[in-house]
Amino acid sequence: MAEEQQYESIVIGAGVQGSFTAYQLAKRGRKTLLLEQFVLPHTRGSSHGQTRIIRKAYEDDFYTRMMEESYQLWAQLEREAGVRLYRQTGMLVLGPRDSQAYQRTKDTLQRNQVPTVILTPEDFSQHIPHVNLTPGDGALVDTTAGVLYADRALRAVQGQFQKLGGVIKDGQKVTDIESGATVTVCTCTGVYRAQSLVLTAGPWTNTLLAHTGLHIPLQVLRINVCYWKEKVPGSYDVSGRFPCFIQLSSKDSVEHVYGLPSNEYPGLMKVCYHTGSETDPDNRDRQTDRSDIDTVRRYITRCFPGLIPEPAVVESCMYTVTPDRHFVLDRHPDHSNIVIGAGFSGHGFKFGPLVGKLLCELSQGDLPSYDLSPFRITRFQAKSKSSL
Ligand SMILES: Cc1cc2nc3c(=O)[nH]c(=O)nc-3n(C[C@H](O)[C@H](O)[C@H](O)COP(=O)(O)OP(=O)(O)OC[C@H]3O[C@@H](n4cnc5c(N)ncnc54)[C@H](O)[C@@H]3O)c2cc1C
Repeated sequence: MAEEQQYESIVIGAGVQGSFTAYQLAKRGRKTLLLEQFVLPHTRGSSHGQTRIIRKAYEDDFYTRMMEESYQLWAQLEREAGVRLYRQTGMLVLGPRDSQAYQRTKDTLQRNQVPTVILTPEDFSQHIPHVNLTPGDGALVDTTAGVLYADRALRAVQGQFQKLGGVIKDGQKVTDIESGATVTVCTCTGVYRAQSLVLTAGPWTNTLLAHTGLHIPLQVLRINVCYWKEKVPGSYDVSGRFPCFIQLSSKDSVEHVYGLPSNEYPGLMKVCYHTGSETDPDNRDRQTDRSDIDTVRRYITRCFPGLIPEPAVVESCMYTVTPDRHFVLDRHPDHSNIVIGAGFSGHGFKFGPLVGKLLCELSQGDLPSYDLSPFRITRFQAKSKSSL
């Protein structure tokens, strides 16, 4: 017979966003259940792997401002869990000097007084060895940026959640949601009830939302995560003080190419394309398109002469993207006790602690700490009406 249990809050999905939301709810004394379909830890969603970039360099002020608090919350978790989760490396932003993306990023950093170093073409190679600056490209360094130790962060936040009395049930795929004043959530082995539900199911968001009559325009992309071998070991090493980087669009690519100094595999640098091909999250290994790898290969050949332009390791991950690449942080339009965190569009990890706080505030009925209008679900409906 199915196990039946009552909680105050249920969170579906133990990726970075669900784990931080559950932790925030437990911190506020809510009896909270975190449900995960796979046995933890797993590599089948979007939050696995050892590293992610953390930065304040954004085109939009609201992200840069939100990152201010997110950094503080990451540091708080480091203290609570007694682990190191962040390493400051700085992040190099490269892009056509006259492009909107480069100019807006530069302006936003300066307006928000983020410590930034602007590099001229003359002093570029002295500060950033082994990288060819494209003629016409500007270069700046967001010095606050660095690397987050992703797997370790997930372990830490889930551990803190459990210390606060939170319950994690992994290997339990949610198969049904019944909305109402009390929400009922069914898995293969249990039936759980709570006053409020937070849905942070990453690429599976729409599968779950279907039980509640809602569909959000989300696209799931498979990302090839590529690691490239250094010709001379240590050239792009974090201990050699090489920074993370983002190359805004270039002649090789429409989307960003980004990279992190070698970390998870000695002598291999992670460099990826910030998009991929559409996929089904349950069958992503069937999707074998590698055109993104060709894009990165061309870029590396031209700009990173110290890397062998053939990936030595290829792993995979998924982005869940919205049409405008902004997140979804909102209440369900028909059921205010169901809160949705989704569409993190390949840049949500660094916001995890703050997203957790905001989803917790929404689910508690509190006034959110930030203006969440860029993240509302109605923006999609408004668009579809105007395009009729
Ligand atoms: C290659 C790559 C590089 C990235 N780099 C960066 C970076 O440098 N900086 C940055 O800030 N961000 C980065 N991101 C983005 C960031 O990792 C994601 O935005 C973030 O991990 C999304 O987390 P999530 O919790 O929303 O989704 P997920 O991690 O996918 O979590 C959702 C969870 O819900 C579970 N679930 C789904 N359906 C059910 C169900 N029916 N029942 C129970 N559980 C269910 C899933 O199994 C999964 O564990 C990157 C992403 C990728 C893929």
